[in-house]
Amino acid sequence: MDSELRDLYQQVILDHHRRPRNFHPVPGADRAAEGYNPLCGDRVKVELKTGADGRYEDVGFTGTGCAICTASASMMTETLKGRTREEAETLFQGFHRLLTGADDPAEAQERLGKLAVFAGVREFPVRVKCATLPWHTFHAAAQGKSEAVSTE
Ligand code: ZN
Repeated sequence: MDSELRDLYQQVILDHHRRPRNFHPVPGADRAAEGYNPLCGDRVKVELKTGADGRYEDVGFTGTGCAICTASASMMTETLKGRTREEAETLFQGFHRLLTGADDPAEAQERLGKLAVFAGVREFPVRVKCATLPWHTFHAAAQGKSEAVSTE
Protein backbone atom coordinates (compact mmCIF):
# COMPACT_ATOMS: atom_id res chain seq x y z
CA MET A 1 0.00 0.00 0.00
CA ASP A 2 1.38 3.46 -0.79
CA SER A 3 2.07 5.84 2.07
CA GLU A 4 -0.68 8.26 1.04
CA LEU A 5 -3.33 5.58 1.39
CA ARG A 6 -1.81 4.42 4.68
CA ASP A 7 -1.96 7.95 6.13
CA LEU A 8 -5.54 8.32 4.97
CA TYR A 9 -6.41 4.96 6.50
CA GLN A 10 -5.01 5.99 9.88
CA GLN A 11 -6.77 9.37 9.80
CA VAL A 12 -10.11 7.90 8.85
CA ILE A 13 -9.99 5.10 11.43
CA LEU A 14 -9.01 7.51 14.19
CA ASP A 15 -11.63 10.07 13.25
CA HIS A 16 -14.49 7.57 13.12
CA HIS A 17 -13.29 5.81 16.25
CA ARG A 18 -13.25 9.06 18.23
CA ARG A 19 -16.51 10.37 16.83
CA PRO A 20 -18.58 7.41 15.61
CA ARG A 21 -21.42 8.45 13.30
CA ASN A 22 -24.91 7.00 13.80
CA PHE A 23 -23.88 5.40 17.08
CA HIS A 24 -27.39 5.09 18.51
CA PRO A 25 -30.45 2.85 18.40
CA VAL A 26 -32.82 3.55 15.52
CA PRO A 27 -36.35 4.55 16.59
CA GLY A 28 -38.92 2.54 14.66
CA ALA A 29 -36.30 0.17 13.21
CA ASP A 30 -37.86 -2.61 11.14
CA ARG A 31 -34.73 -4.78 10.93
CA ALA A 32 -31.94 -5.51 13.42
CA ALA A 33 -29.19 -8.05 13.98
CA GLU A 34 -26.37 -8.61 16.41
CA GLY A 35 -22.85 -9.69 15.62
CA TYR A 36 -19.95 -10.96 17.67
CA ASN A 37 -16.28 -11.39 16.86
CA PRO A 38 -14.85 -13.71 19.55
CA LEU A 39 -11.29 -13.22 18.29
CA CYS A 40 -11.29 -9.59 19.36
CA GLY A 41 -14.38 -9.31 21.55
CA ASP A 42 -16.23 -6.91 19.24
CA ARG A 43 -19.99 -6.82 19.70
CA VAL A 44 -22.20 -4.80 17.44
CA LYS A 45 -25.91 -4.39 16.89
CA VAL A 46 -27.08 -2.89 13.61
CA GLU A 47 -30.58 -1.46 13.22
CA LEU A 48 -32.28 -0.47 9.98
CA LYS A 49 -35.32 1.55 9.17
CA THR A 50 -36.66 1.16 5.66
CA GLY A 51 -38.51 4.11 4.18
CA ALA A 52 -41.66 3.99 2.03
CA ASP A 53 -39.47 4.32 -1.09
CA GLY A 54 -37.56 1.15 -0.15
CA ARG A 55 -34.39 3.04 0.77
CA TYR A 56 -32.73 2.84 4.16
CA GLU A 57 -34.06 5.90 5.87
CA ASP A 58 -32.00 5.37 9.00
CA VAL A 59 -29.13 3.08 9.90
CA GLY A 60 -27.57 2.98 13.35
CA PHE A 61 -25.33 0.81 15.47
CA THR A 62 -24.63 0.18 19.14
CA GLY A 63 -22.22 -2.07 20.99
CA THR A 64 -18.60 -2.20 22.03
CA GLY A 65 -15.81 -2.78 19.58
CA CYS A 66 -12.18 -1.98 18.91
CA ALA A 67 -11.17 1.08 16.90
CA ILE A 68 -11.36 -0.73 13.57
CA CYS A 69 -14.75 -2.31 14.26
CA THR A 70 -16.20 1.00 15.47
CA ALA A 71 -14.75 2.96 12.55
CA SER A 72 -16.01 0.39 10.08
CA ALA A 73 -19.52 0.42 11.57
CA SER A 74 -19.51 4.21 11.60
CA MET A 75 -18.52 4.50 7.94
CA MET A 76 -20.86 1.70 6.96
CA THR A 77 -23.91 3.37 8.50
CA GLU A 78 -22.98 6.65 6.81
CA THR A 79 -22.63 4.91 3.47
CA LEU A 80 -25.83 2.87 3.70
CA LYS A 81 -28.22 5.69 4.56
CA GLY A 82 -30.40 6.48 1.58
CA ARG A 83 -29.37 3.33 -0.33
CA THR A 84 -31.70 0.70 -1.69
CA ARG A 85 -31.34 -2.86 -0.47
CA GLU A 86 -29.76 -3.85 -3.81
CA GLU A 87 -27.22 -1.01 -3.67
CA ALA A 88 -26.37 -1.94 -0.10
CA GLU A 89 -25.91 -5.59 -1.08
CA THR A 90 -23.49 -4.57 -3.84
CA LEU A 91 -21.49 -2.48 -1.36
CA PHE A 92 -21.41 -5.38 1.11
CA GLN A 93 -20.05 -7.73 -1.56
CA GLY A 94 -17.51 -5.15 -2.72
CA PHE A 95 -16.30 -4.43 0.80
CA HIS A 96 -15.95 -8.12 1.52
CA ARG A 97 -13.96 -8.69 -1.67
CA LEU A 98 -11.70 -5.75 -0.85
CA LEU A 99 -10.95 -7.01 2.65
CA THR A 100 -10.34 -10.58 1.58
CA GLY A 101 -7.88 -9.41 -1.01
CA ALA A 102 -9.83 -10.36 -4.11
CA ASP A 103 -10.05 -6.79 -5.36
CA ASP A 104 -7.36 -4.30 -6.28
CA PRO A 105 -7.62 -1.26 -3.93
CA ALA A 106 -7.42 1.23 -6.82
CA GLU A 107 -10.33 -0.41 -8.65
CA ALA A 108 -12.25 -0.81 -5.41
CA GLN A 109 -11.97 2.92 -4.80
CA GLU A 110 -14.12 3.58 -7.86
CA ARG A 111 -16.86 1.32 -6.54
CA LEU A 112 -16.57 1.89 -2.82
CA GLY A 113 -15.39 5.48 -2.54
CA LYS A 114 -13.87 6.27 0.84
CA LEU A 115 -14.63 2.78 2.15
CA ALA A 116 -11.63 1.72 0.06
CA VAL A 117 -9.29 3.01 2.79
CA PHE A 118 -10.12 -0.21 4.63
CA ALA A 119 -7.76 -1.93 2.19
CA GLY A 120 -5.25 -0.91 4.88
CA VAL A 121 -6.69 -3.59 7.15
CA ARG A 122 -5.37 -6.28 4.83
CA GLU A 123 -1.92 -5.60 6.29
CA PHE A 124 -3.27 -6.77 9.64
CA PRO A 125 -5.06 -10.07 8.88
CA VAL A 126 -6.23 -10.52 12.48
CA ARG A 127 -8.18 -7.25 12.10
CA VAL A 128 -10.08 -8.21 8.96
CA LYS A 129 -12.92 -9.71 10.98
CA CYS A 130 -13.14 -6.54 13.07
CA ALA A 131 -13.75 -4.52 9.90
CA THR A 132 -16.16 -6.96 8.27
CA LEU A 133 -18.25 -7.74 11.40
CA PRO A 134 -20.53 -4.67 11.06
CA TRP A 135 -21.13 -5.50 7.39
CA HIS A 136 -21.97 -9.13 8.08
CA THR A 137 -24.29 -7.97 10.85
CA PHE A 138 -25.94 -5.48 8.51
CA HIS A 139 -26.31 -8.22 5.90
CA ALA A 140 -28.03 -10.52 8.40
CA ALA A 141 -30.37 -7.70 9.46
CA ALA A 142 -31.25 -6.86 5.85
CA GLN A 143 -32.10 -10.50 5.23
CA GLY A 144 -34.27 -10.63 8.32
CA LYS A 145 -32.16 -13.21 10.14
CA SER A 146 -32.74 -13.30 13.84
CA GLU A 147 -29.85 -15.43 15.10
CA ALA A 148 -26.68 -13.60 16.10
CA VAL A 149 -23.84 -13.42 13.60
CA SER A 150 -20.47 -14.75 14.67
CA THR A 151 -17.25 -14.43 12.71
CA GLU A 152 -16.24 -17.92 13.91
ZN1 ZN B 1 -11.86 -5.80 16.81
